[in-house]
Formats: sequence, structure tokens, C-alpha cells
Amino acid sequence: MNLAELERLEIESVLEEIGVPRFHGRQIFRWIYRRGVTSFNEMTDLSLALRAKLAEATTIESPSVSEQQTSSDGTTKLNLRLADDRHIESVYIPDTPAQTFCVSTQVGCAMACGFCLTGTMGLLRQLTAGEIAGQVRVLAHTTKLADSAFNIVLMGMGEPLHNYDATMKALRILADPDGLALHPKRMTLSTVGLLPALERLATEPLMPNLAISLHATTDEARSRLVPINKRYPIEELMAALRRFPLAKRRRITFEYVLLAGVNDTPDDARRLVRLLNGLRAKVNLLPLNEAPGIPFTRPSDERVNAFARILAERDVRVSVRKSRGRDIRAACGQLVVEGQKPSTRRRLAEAHDVN
Ligand code: SAH
Repeated sequence: MNLAELERLEIESVLEEIGVPRFHGRQIFRWIYRRGVTSFNEMTDLSLALRAKLAEATTIESPSVSEQQTSSDGTTKLNLRLADDRHIESVYIPDTPAQTFCVSTQVGCAMACGFCLTGTMGLLRQLTAGEIAGQVRVLAHTTKLADSAFNIVLMGMGEPLHNYDATMKALRILADPDGLALHPKRMTLSTVGLLPALERLATEPLMPNLAISLHATTDEARSRLVPINKRYPIEELMAALRRFPLAKRRRITFEYVLLAGVNDTPDDARRLVRLLNGLRAKVNLLPLNEAPGIPFTRPSDERVNAFARILAERDVRVSVRKSRGRDIRAACGQLVVEGQKPSTRRRLAEAHDVN
């Protein structure tokens, strides 16, 4: 049994099953998440006999850093190796006052958005809860930020709502006060808007901030850029978001990648204002991060500013995302691990009933 896949109470149950008092579960959980220790040998407040017994009956798996690259702006990208030799990418974005970790939820992604490099990989496999939470653990301890305030954004590789159970379990592990104690206010889940999963999210006791990858204002345009729109069109998505239970003072973020000549006209901006009417929303404009093989270009700064101004003048909160880590391909939509064969892509996509 791999203890890194379990919530604290589940660890306690495993201990009970192997005849170890439950209270050691909290100690072990603290070692793993607060101290970043994944070897029983180093858990010095457990007796030697207990450490030996645990090592015999259980394991603690951890993604391992196989490559680390730091951008000129301080953004650091980790290439992490998983137990089955698959690789994923996770990013540390330093900023003041808060630091942000951007983590992946899948190896690759099945959504195939037209401007996203990860989408070109297809879905290779789902990440487990332990692998999702493990990225945050490794990032927090690699950067020595485990004891300070940080945010996480599920904006790395993958579509979190297409890996629902593992994603939510990872968030519960990260929120545990005996571990990294990450407040849900510091978590952001970004999604293309898989409606059944979004309805389910609306009922969760642990509620992260919500970001919606909208990217277009008509179904025709959105279906071309974000193919899942054919199944869950804009009007249904917006209706679900209007029903979504928002805590006080929280807003839904709408991400909008700006593509020159495609979705960046003043008409698009005005349609976006109308779509958001009556919603507690903020818009995050993402001028395209260009990449080889992506058939779109980034609009000029003037064009981006003109789009932002139309929103701001109509009282829509808007920000333009600073692109971080572009020189090491760590920016939005640039995470991709080359050389991994999409052998299971079709099978997985079918199993999850997408595409
Ligand atoms: N699948 C989820 C999580 C990934 S988040 C989602 O789509 O929301 C990654 C964010 O970066 C998304 O908003 C995505 O649309 C955006 N993105 C993808 N490719 C990009 C690119 N080339 N330039 C800028 N942003 C991009």
C-alpha cells in the first residue's frame, strides 16, 4: 500500500489493519507533507521496530525531479518522473506577495484545444491523487516554501474535471491541517467546463476557486478552439455557472486566450461583456504564447489593450496575464513532454466518454 495515495484518515485505517496504533498516522502524514520526508528511515520519532514494520508493509512513492530549469524571470519548471517512467511538468512561479505552484492533473490532455501544446500530446494517462498532491509537496520542499503562504493552480498539463476523483482527493490531502494545510481560497481549478463534473463540483464541501477557459464568445468560434464546446455549448456552460454556489466575495475567473484575428475584435469584447452580465466574474486575458506547430499568432500589445479597455469601460474586472517562463517553455499551454507515445490515448478517451 502506497501511503502517498491516501488521506490522513485512510493512512490511520491502514495502520490499524497492520496492527499499528492509529495515532502514528498523523506523525507519518506530517513527515510526508510538512517535512517532505518519504523514507521511513528518517522518521526519527517512530521506533526502529515500527519503521521496519512500515517499510515492510507499505511504501511512500514520490515523483522525482528528473530535470529543473529556471527562467530569466525566476520561474522554475520541474520535469518529474513518475513510478511508471512517465514524465509530467510542474511550475513554480515566484511573485509577491504570494508564490504560485502550477500543477498537472493528467499526462497529456484529451481536450485538444487548438492553441495548446499539451493538447497535441493527447491523453496518455490520468494522474493519481498522490501524484497530483505529490507535485505540490515536491515543489514546496524543493523551493523551501512549505512553511510559507503559497497558491496552487491546476493549470498545468491536463483537464482536472476529466480526472475528477483523483483531483478532489489531492485537494483534500493538500488542505489537511496536519499536512501543507493549504486553504481552499489558495487553490484554483481551471477547466474547459465539463458540465456534469462542474455540477458535481458545485456540491463539494471543499471548494477551490473556479477558472473557466472560455476563449471565444460564439459557439462557432469556441467549438473550433475548444472542441468540447460541441458537447457543452456556451449557453449551457454559462447557465451552469450562474447556478454555481459562489462564496462571499469570490468571483469566477474567465480565461481568454487572445489569438490575432480570431477572437480579439472589439465585437468579441462586447459579446464577452454581455455573456458575463450578472455574474460575479473577472476576466484574465492571455495573449497567446506562440509555439511551433500552433497555427495562431499573438496579437499586438495595442490590440490586447484595446480589448481589455472595452471590458474595463463596462465595469468588467480584467487583467492581462503576465506570461512567465516563456524562455523555458513553462508558460500557459506550453507544457509538453516530448517522446511519450500516445498509445493509450484513444482507449482512455473512450473510457471517459470524451472527444
Ligand atoms: N484544461 C484546463 C487546465 C489547463 S489551464 C483548462 O483548459 O482550463 C491552462 C490555461 O492556459 C488554459 O486557460 C489554457 O486555455 C491556456 N492556454 C493553453 N494554451 C495556451 C497558449 N498557447 N497561450 C496562452 N494560454 C494558453
